Order: sequence, then structure tokens, then C-alpha cells
Amino acid sequence: MDLINETRLWSTINDLAAITIEDQPWTRRSFTAKYNEGREWLMKQMRESGLEVEVDEGSNVIGRLIGTEPNLPSIVIGSHTDTVPNGGRFDGIAGVLAGLEIVRALKENNIPVKHTIEVVDFTAEEPSEYGLSTVGSRAWSGNLTEEMLSYTNSEGQSLGDAISYAGGKPNDIKNCEKDKGSIALYLELHIEQGPVLLRKNANLGVVTGIVGIQRYKISVDGLPNHSGTTPMDMRNDALTAASEMTLALESVANGKFDQPVVGTVGVFNNFPNASNVVPGRVEFIVEIRSISEEAIDAVADEFLSKVYVIASKRDVKVETENVSRSGAIVISDKIKQLLIESCSSITDKVIQLPSGAGHDANQMSLLAPVGMVFIPCKDGRSHCPEEWAEKEDLYLGAKALLNAVLAFSKQEQ
Ligand SMILES: [Zn+2]
Repeated sequence: MDLINETRLWSTINDLAAITIEDQPWTRRSFTAKYNEGREWLMKQMRESGLEVEVDEGSNVIGRLIGTEPNLPSIVIGSHTDTVPNGGRFDGIAGVLAGLEIVRALKENNIPVKHTIEVVDFTAEEPSEYGLSTVGSRAWSGNLTEEMLSYTNSEGQSLGDAISYAGGKPNDIKNCEKDKGSIALYLELHIEQGPVLLRKNANLGVVTGIVGIQRYKISVDGLPNHSGTTPMDMRNDALTAASEMTLALESVANGKFDQPVVGTVGVFNNFPNASNVVPGRVEFIVEIRSISEEAIDAVADEFLSKVYVIASKRDVKVETENVSRSGAIVISDKIKQLLIESCSSITDKVIQLPSGAGHDANQMSLLAPVGMVFIPCKDGRSHCPEEWAEKEDLYLGAKALLNAVLAFSKQEQ
């Protein structure tokens, strides 16, 4: 039976995407008037679909379809409606609106589900102007601290004020914290934001885990000197040393590990950065991601040991500092199996892959079993105006999630 209405899902996605800053498509930054406008539109859709609508203390928008056994923990289907600047038409809203389509389909076909289903638009998933991402899902998991609420934007307004502006109650933020066990399952549909599904000619991807991330700041000190008068064999060039270190990261991350690893130098600052001076200092940031923490540690260890060898060979000083570390999330075999079955029942083009980007599912994994399904995006591109997903893939993704909800609710006694 075809429950998901492909045309309706597609048009709701287009309608919400169209709520954008006009001269900067497709932008709906968190805590702006456009963001609130988009969420008003979403709440109207939820109300018209017969859902109970709530904006909680963390300014998360929740649409609830009450289950036939309302005392059971709920099934949450969520994502976000904020975008990055010039961001895309699908990142985030595909997941929220697939959730809306799923509850619409259940309601209009009178299909009873034991669990209450909550469709959630989590507040500010993307890095906000307040220096914090996954704000709303943090409020649920208890990871939104007083200190974070006092973070300010460039105009000096606090994140707490921004949450109030979006309809939340920052002073009572603890009230929306969820108990472990109060959510039976969290599901999120998202565009892949990478090229793997396309390259493998797949329609759906079952996410095996979300990568952990370690970042290191590397400072290399050589000796700044006149570029004309310092012979090549009498230099302590910080930039050539840092360049060799960058190449070392590439070669180490290219090695064989139990899971794929990526290593990137995305920030690279050269001092004094003058055409007639041998570089005296370079600071760069190394980022390593994988769903295997062992693989991340192995790459970090091998890279750091090479850094010291290169520094001593080139007679420069080096300092290394671990600046951040976030753990990987592994999706349980049970949820992976549930999603593989629900995806495979509608298409044979299903693969498994890790998520290289963080999502609201990161915070939700602290509260409940989580599962994610990816759909392809054109040319693997995201966070840009060209971001594009096909109507058919969105339909398949929503259908896979609906199948998963029905199977899960049935098997949980
Ligand atoms: Zn997203």
C-alpha cells in the first residue's frame, strides 16, 4: 500500500524552502525573523494535520500524534529547519517534513500506532551566531548549560535571549530535558551531504554511525629571516616544515584502518606572510574523523610522531595541542537491521555508510536508540545554493522511515 504522498511531500519541501532571505537563497538562519516565519508555517501544517503542537522551553517545535498506548515512550522523528548562510533547500527540512508526511499518512489512512509519534524541528542545529550548534537537541539531552545560554552574538545578545525570541523559555530550560527511556526510538532522514550514495548508485543509505572528531592545533616556530640573503641550506623555514607535516597527515590518513578515516588541514596561518621573509611561524589545525575511535587515535598518534621527526630534521620547534575531541556514535545492530529491512523492502539500491557530519542524532543518542537514513544529493554537494535532492529519493526515504516506524512499533511489546 502506498501511504506516503510523494507530491505532497515534495510540495511541502518546496514551500518551506521558499521561506528564505530573498537576495540570499536559501537562507533561514536560526533565531531570525525568517526562521520564525518558517516555523510558524510548519506549526500551521502540523495543526491542520491534526497534531498537538508545542513549542518547548528550548524553542523546539513538536507536533504530536498520540499513540493508542500513550503511556509508552514516544517515537521521535526529527531534524532541523535552520540553514547555514546560502545553505540549501533540503539540509534539515527533508527530515522534519518527512516526519510530517509520515504522521499525515498514518492519520489519513487510520493506521493505529501504539507509540506516540513526535515530529520535531530541533532549534538551531547548524552552528548559530552564538557559537553553538545542535542547541535544541542539547536542551533535550541536558547538554545546554547556563554558561552556553550566556554565549553572545556579535551584537552582544545572549543565546538565552535568542531562544526566547524563538518562543522558548531559557530560564526553565531544564524542564524540557528528557529522561533516558522516555524515548523509544529516534529516527532522522537527511541528505547525505557527500558523494558516496551517488558513486555507488544507491537510493538509500543506512547510517552505521556518526564520526567522532579530534582536532589538534600545531604551532611551528622557525626563524624569520631575509628571503634574499638567507641561503637555502641556512634556513629554519616554518612553512616548508608545516607543509611536510600536512602531507604526512594525508599519507597517514590514507593508510589501512578498521574503518575509513579522514584527516584535513583546513586552517593554515603563515607569519609574517610577507613575500621577502622566510616564514617564521605557522599555526594550523588538524582535524581527524572516523566512526572508529581506535582509528582516530591511531592516525593521531602516527601523525604526531611524524610531526616531531619532521621538526627535528628541519630544525624548527613544534608544539601540539589537542583542542577538541567528540566521541563517535555507533548505531546499534538492532536499529541498523530495522532500517536495512525497511529500506530494502522498497528498493534494492541500499548501502550502509557512516555519517561524516554531525546531526541532532548525536545528542539524541544520549537519550535513545537512534537511526538515520541518507538520501543522495546532486553532485554530493550541500551547504550551498546548488544543494539538490530528487523527489523520488525523498519519497523513498520517507517511505523507509514509515516502514521502520510501523515495524518497530509492532515488534516492541
Ligand atoms: Zn542538517
